[in-house]
Amino acid sequence: MNRAVIVICDSLRADLITPSDAPFLTEFGRHSARFANHCSVFPSTTRTSAASIATGCLPARHGLLGNTMALDEGDGLVCLSVGKPDFRDRLHRATGRTLHAPTLAERVRGAGETVIAFSNVSPGAAYFLDPDGFGWVYNSAGSFGPGRRLVPAEEGIAVSKGEAGDAALTERFCDEVLRQRSPAVALLWLSEPDYTGHHTPLGSPAHRRAIVSADKNVRLVAETIDELDRSGERILFIVGSDHGMETVDKTIDLDSLLVEAGLKGAAASSDVVVAPNGTAALLYFSDPEGALVGHVARFLDTQDWVGRAFVGNALAEIGLPTGSAAQIALTLKPDDRANAHGVPGHSHIVRDALEPKDCTGFGQHGGLGRNEQRPFLFVAGGGFAPGTYRDRSSLVDIAPTALRHLGLSVAGMDGQPLTRHPTA
Ligand SMILES: [Zn+2]
Repeated sequence: MNRAVIVICDSLRADLITPSDAPFLTEFGRHSARFANHCSVFPSTTRTSAASIATGCLPARHGLLGNTMALDEGDGLVCLSVGKPDFRDRLHRATGRTLHAPTLAERVRGAGETVIAFSNVSPGAAYFLDPDGFGWVYNSAGSFGPGRRLVPAEEGIAVSKGEAGDAALTERFCDEVLRQRSPAVALLWLSEPDYTGHHTPLGSPAHRRAIVSADKNVRLVAETIDELDRSGERILFIVGSDHGMETVDKTIDLDSLLVEAGLKGAAASSDVVVAPNGTAALLYFSDPEGALVGHVARFLDTQDWVGRAFVGNALAEIGLPTGSAAQIALTLKPDDRANAHGVPGHSHIVRDALEPKDCTGFGQHGGLGRNEQRPFLFVAGGGFAPGTYRDRSSLVDIAPTALRHLGLSVAGMDGQPLTRHPTA
């Protein structure tokens, strides 16, 4: 039967795929379907992206609104990290569900087949690929099989983020998942070059080595697929990234600004809660229909560090729900200046009280900046003609493309199966 293999190189910007740092991807891009206008979702964070790749839906429909989210667990809204291993359970307890849309794993399981995901990023980003346990999700914080049965530690994975962990995970993915278990959908999520990009300058020697390592891992997967499917038609191979990165300029302490402006009771108050998402932020309100929403929106209009603000019904324009506690979304002001290594694109970020480190000069993402909204997407096999595809594509098109290849329905998704021939 047909199979799909998906590899995500976290944070790899399309313009940083160069012959010197990514020789395999450069060559592979020439011989596959290359989507030149591929974009991320908003917020352009890994956890939101994982949910959108898994469901084929925008955050408005799947409900996972960022790397952080405000939840009311009984004592008012509090901002929590979605990346923590227990967030999935806390979300389920507080709201009665996880994602609001079915995942690839659920849809494939309905046809008696399975999805196996290996993820070397945060536990939250891993678990939201399949939060209700229809298939298998492997992550160093704990791995789960069907029914969310915990995989014994000795059968799980114990790798760290970064080059060595990605390499070990890729080898096991190729041998165990692709060669032996051969599920209908196999997904590998690499931590690089995101992991290194967050603590080194973009384009620095360390960041470029991280890109080299991701390139080597994709090569190993591609070679394994070639061995397993000489025809190149039975296995659909999708390789891409979830988003890109901008270089961090200024860090804005939005909580303090709101308190000083008299719009928020205290840093930890629940009246308005800032959920920072790198170069973006969502603002949650304990009374989503109250006057405070308008007061905060007018204050934000006066702030020169804001790129764009989306309030109330305008949230629908960027794929966010309009009827939730989150009533304002911000993308911070980007600019095209290059950094010391010649990599263009800077943006301000919102200070994250959960992780208050100084990231000035390093990579970050979350917003609508040109470079963070510039992931790459190459597709090979499954009838895709090589060439440059200029139609707009998005992360939400990946799941329907995989399902069409498997002969399954794509009903109820925001994304569309990608066309298999470039339009003139
Ligand atoms: Zn990241």
